[in-house]
Amino acid sequence: MSLDSLEEIPGVGPAIAKKLYEAGYRTPEAVAVATPKEIAIAAEIGESTAAKIIEAARELVNIGFISAEEFLEQRKKISQIMTGCKSLDELLGGGIETRGITELFGEFRTGKTQICHQLSVTVQLPVESGGLNGEAVYIDTEGTFRPERLVQIAKRFGLDQKKVLQGVTYARAYNSDHQLYLAQSVEDLINEGKNIKLIIVDSIVGHFRSEYVGRGLLAERQQKLNKHLHTLLRLAELYNLAVVVTNQVMAKPDTFFGDPTQPVGGHIVAHNCTTRIYLRKGKGNQRIARVVDSPFLPEQETVFLITEDGVVDM
Ligand code: ADP
Ligand code: MG
Repeated sequence: MSLDSLEEIPGVGPAIAKKLYEAGYRTPEAVAVATPKEIAIAAEIGESTAAKIIEAARELVNIGFISAEEFLEQRKKISQIMTGCKSLDELLGGGIETRGITELFGEFRTGKTQICHQLSVTVQLPVESGGLNGEAVYIDTEGTFRPERLVQIAKRFGLDQKKVLQGVTYARAYNSDHQLYLAQSVEDLINEGKNIKLIIVDSIVGHFRSEYVGRGLLAERQQKLNKHLHTLLRLAELYNLAVVVTNQVMAKPDTFFGDPTQPVGGHIVAHNCTTRIYLRKGKGNQRIARVVDSPFLPEQETVFLITEDGVVDM
């Protein structure tokens, strides 16, 4: 990826290309799915010029209508990562899908981070065992990543511990800008030859929520979050990989948003996620998972356990 690919867009010269690149728009595809406002801000140009550039980028990368047949062909390329828990896999219609974003949301200690750890291991399993023989990127915004946990889970799947640890590229995101930067940098890892099949962002809105406090900053926050999700979605589609993000909901959601299945970060996150799983606590180490507003999965629930071995069936 270079500035040259941006300059292929009619109307984009070296100066605009440089500004777009520095703002994180590294390919014509990224420009094609942006809004005029986003491009106007990034390139410091007027919105009408930005709209023309987006239109040109869309023509260049051929974004638009496709036949249902072509769409079906694209869908056939989707693969799945098994969770390592049969009941969860059944709930998900097989496992976590590539080419999309899966959101795990729920209160504190409902197992979001545990599932992320487990997926970082199961993605490394051979395809015939339910994995993708790939590697994971773990973007940790809360400091709750524990490599020791990967070792415990690796044991259960009979995988080489050292290999499993080497198969997870980790970064702690210190603020929302850093988080955006890290997501954009995943492409560099792929270009260096890493077979990334899973990107985890645990959690997706934490930094945004603490940095953009108050009504006045809401629009800016949502715009940035939207851009972040588009970066992730683009990587998912371009490299046929899975993206899993977590989102913590408040203990008393009624005070803030009314419906507990409406997570903080609101519609921006929800609308960009292909599959959403709502997690809640059961008795002891039992946890309940429910698929929420999926266009193709029934709204079902299942119970699983969090143990020393990771996330397991009842
Ligand atoms: P969150 O949804 O906040 O990310 P976590 O995924 O961190 O929640 O899940 C926390 C739960 O996982 C806690 O109930 C904790 O007891 C349990 N847990 C974490 N590690 C282990 C372990 N090694 N053995 C058993 N349970 C564990
Ligand atoms: Mg967590």
